[in-house]
Amino acid sequence: MSTAVVVGSGPNGLAAAIVLARAGHEVTVLESAEEIGGGVRSGTVDGVLVDHCSAIHPMAVGSAFLAGLDLERHGLRWRWPEIDCAHPLDDGDAGLLYRSVEQTAAGLGADGARWRAVFGGPAARFDTLADDIMGPLLRIPAHPLTLARFGAPTVLPASLFARIFRTPAARALFGGVAAHTFRPLHYPMTSAIGLGILTAGHRHGWAVAEGGSQAITDALASVLAELGGKVRTGTRIARADQLPPADITMFDLTPTAVAEILGDRLPRRVARSYRRFRYGPGAFKVDFAVRGPVPWANAEVGRAGTVHLGGDFDEIAATEREIHAGRMPRRPFVLVGQQYLADPGRSAGDVNPIYAYAHVPHGYTGDATDAIVEQFERFAPGFADRIVATAVRSTTEMSVYNPNYVGGDICTGAKDIGQLVFGPRPTLAPYDVGIPGMYICSAATPPGPGAHGMCGANAATRALAHLRREP
Ligand SMILES: Cc1cc2nc3c(=O)[nH]c(=O)nc-3n(C[C@H](O)[C@H](O)[C@H](O)COP(=O)(O)OP(=O)(O)OC[C@H]3O[C@@H](n4cnc5c(N)ncnc54)[C@H](O)[C@@H]3O)c2cc1C
Repeated sequence: MSTAVVVGSGPNGLAAAIVLARAGHEVTVLESAEEIGGGVRSGTVDGVLVDHCSAIHPMAVGSAFLAGLDLERHGLRWRWPEIDCAHPLDDGDAGLLYRSVEQTAAGLGADGARWRAVFGGPAARFDTLADDIMGPLLRIPAHPLTLARFGAPTVLPASLFARIFRTPAARALFGGVAAHTFRPLHYPMTSAIGLGILTAGHRHGWAVAEGGSQAITDALASVLAELGGKVRTGTRIARADQLPPADITMFDLTPTAVAEILGDRLPRRVARSYRRFRYGPGAFKVDFAVRGPVPWANAEVGRAGTVHLGGDFDEIAATEREIHAGRMPRRPFVLVGQQYLADPGRSAGDVNPIYAYAHVPHGYTGDATDAIVEQFERFAPGFADRIVATAVRSTTEMSVYNPNYVGGDICTGAKDIGQLVFGPRPTLAPYDVGIPGMYICSAATPPGPGAHGMCGANAATRALAHLRREP
């Protein structure tokens, strides 16, 4: 039987391990932390259940790989909030995103028809589109026309694309989702990630996992165990000589870490690219235990699973520009999760978990807690009085919690044009590290960040194809 080793047990590591185990390999996953899951773990703060990293999962529900695993049989249940995402504004209005394009359009007044025109077609064709966008972008597309229609606007800067919309609510709603790219929104291709998330969301909804995102990891681990895969936690790989011999080695790590581990064994051009891999701004995370609901000024916001706090489109664009330049804005962009609305079992009595992180400069060493609370107070006066407990994870703590989040970069690398299109190095083979039998499969590779497992599944499929071609 051939053997495979996977270093790192994030969703991509587990996905790669499952693909390899399913193909009959004897698989061992090596994980530095004491528990598996990487960016897909949950815990408790003052008795309420919180997601440590990944929280909202349109791309995971839409992942062809996860859908094929029958994760429900392994305990995973998706739950959806009434409203996927809300973006409150200072005048009391709010952009509201529903899974239904029609319902979203109906709430966007003068921009309703434009929202429908932009998202109606791609959302209806998302499952076909996913064949092409959930893998390397530079390859022969399976559905060229569908991809061309969706792909054309993705090359635009988000600030240019946003001009389609006239109302502050629609512009902010789009801008808040576009900000998930952690790039200045006037840069080319900053529409891509936002359009991808919005389209996936209109097809599959912004789902949360019942019992916390940890349930995704637990279900993947259960599939792997059923296939005979083994997991060793508390095992950090720092050098090549610590790697057990194997026919296939997969790295669910950053390119920088792969370069450090493999050192001189890497071809020079690969080592150079990996060492020059660029990281983006950071996330400063705060989980709150809050008595009662958040007192949103606009009551509709209290029905949304995700809330973007960042003001209007121009303000979001300005704050994203600031953090990119290494400066902490007074009012950072804050992503809020109210997962308990869809999954009430996370609360303890009338105390609810409220998830939040601010976009901050790469490696930011300050404390963004007050800035986050002030953003809440701006749109939900009285929030601070309801806080029962707070758990903070700074950018440094984030990179200790998971070494893949360098400087607090939760996207595993800056999504500039080069890295968005190619992945870790300029090649049409983004998963190959240039050593036969060795591959990189983390979110630094296409299709990029998210708890969808597609990077791992694609890399393992590539590894199996190579093995089949060998005599
Ligand atoms: C705050 C936050 C919010 C997020 N929100 C969302 C969201 O709402 N929806 C969504 O889809 N995604 C979200 N993400 C992103 C998502 O979590 C990641 O894209 C995803 O986890 C990446 O998976 P991965 O398998 O590539 O790597 P990771 O999940 O980062 O796992 C890598 C694993 O490798 C291990 N490791 C690292 N170095 C070594 C070593 N040398 N030896 C052994 N093991 C090692 C790490 O401990 C870790 O377990 C969020 C992330 C964060 C941090």
